[in-house]
Amino acid sequence: MPVMRIPYTDPLPAPRILPPSASTVRGTIAALTNFLVTPARTSVPTQQTPSPPHPSAAESNHATSALASSRPRTLLLTGAGISVASGLADYRGSSGTYTLNKTYRPIYFSEFVGSHASRQRYWARSFLGWENLRRAKPNTSHRAVAALGQAGAIQSVITQNVDSFHKILNDPASLPTLELHGYLRATVCLTCRKEYDRQAFQERLCELNPAWHTFLQECLRSGALDTENPIERRERGLKTNPDGDVDLPGVDYATFRYPACPSCLGKDARVDVDQDGAVVPTTKAGVLKPAVVMFGESIPPEVKTRAEEFVDAADKMLIVGSSLATYSAWRLAKKATDQGKPVGILNMGGVRGEEGFFEGVPRDNDGSLAFRSQEASEFILPEVVERVQKMWGTSSDKVADKTLDDAKASASS
Ligand SMILES: [Zn+2]
Repeated sequence: MPVMRIPYTDPLPAPRILPPSASTVRGTIAALTNFLVTPARTSVPTQQTPSPPHPSAAESNHATSALASSRPRTLLLTGAGISVASGLADYRGSSGTYTLNKTYRPIYFSEFVGSHASRQRYWARSFLGWENLRRAKPNTSHRAVAALGQAGAIQSVITQNVDSFHKILNDPASLPTLELHGYLRATVCLTCRKEYDRQAFQERLCELNPAWHTFLQECLRSGALDTENPIERRERGLKTNPDGDVDLPGVDYATFRYPACPSCLGKDARVDVDQDGAVVPTTKAGVLKPAVVMFGESIPPEVKTRAEEFVDAADKMLIVGSSLATYSAWRLAKKATDQGKPVGILNMGGVRGEEGFFEGVPRDNDGSLAFRSQEASEFILPEVVERVQKMWGTSSDKVADKTLDDAKASASS
């Protein structure tokens, strides 16, 4: 399995809108609705889900279920763009990390594993950035995704995001959700692989770093972490990255302390800590890492396999809020295209290799074969939900606002 690589940051070419009517909100809503409700012509049968027979008039008793099974099975892939409206920065949008900070360089897995100083820097920035993520809530687009799942318009979700918003909202029974790059809601021990709740870890960091805790409280008082607007937050002296950490030049990270894995501590003689349980530079075990896939780290084989199964089982693939600059996401869209499956893209700005996904698609198709739009998902998806519910006579329960705290129960799942 290839390791996570830094996505390339060169500008991507402007997209060709498809169909041309998708250059407006109304046109995009119509095209995306057609994409979701029209059965795929080139359905690839799989073992798990054989192609259903067409219902006849005599089978009226079973009409509803047969109708449901004739609907296309759409896989949704989401990226950072869908969480911008929750106040979380993306990479390449107008306020994105790569756009505003040309020198931004996230930590590599090998640095984190090999260097105590790198871990101090990482956890100090994460300590300050955590509160913002913890208080962030899923937005209109995440709720619309959950509702599309309830309506039967999408069958599975793969997300590149580590904010857990889809995991919080989506019904796991009807809308399985795969977090391709892991999640920030937990830490994981590099030695024993046990996972721990990130908020409990935050409380340990407060205990071990009283001066940093005071600084964090000052940031919270000044409002630097209050606003959900990345631009306002920057104006108040704090920059956050999509990884959930904070940019803070001129700070001595060497003073930051972080705890060892409680399970390994005392059981593994290689765990070196001070009198308070904070890791010291000589430790050879018990190091906790965020449960995200870092750059230079491999995606777990079971996650990679499951993602491919999601693609195989789908008739279509819809991409929302991702430029597919990360190879692990791009290759899934490529796989779907190679299988002859229609691809739709809703993303502001260009998408890596997107012309290749639309080869041979008539420009005047109504969206059912493919569509491409740059409209903001929060203005599109809720209306699409309503249209699909009207067409299919389904309705969904109102999905309430939830925060990351609600994800605690699923942290170990
Ligand atoms: Zn451990």
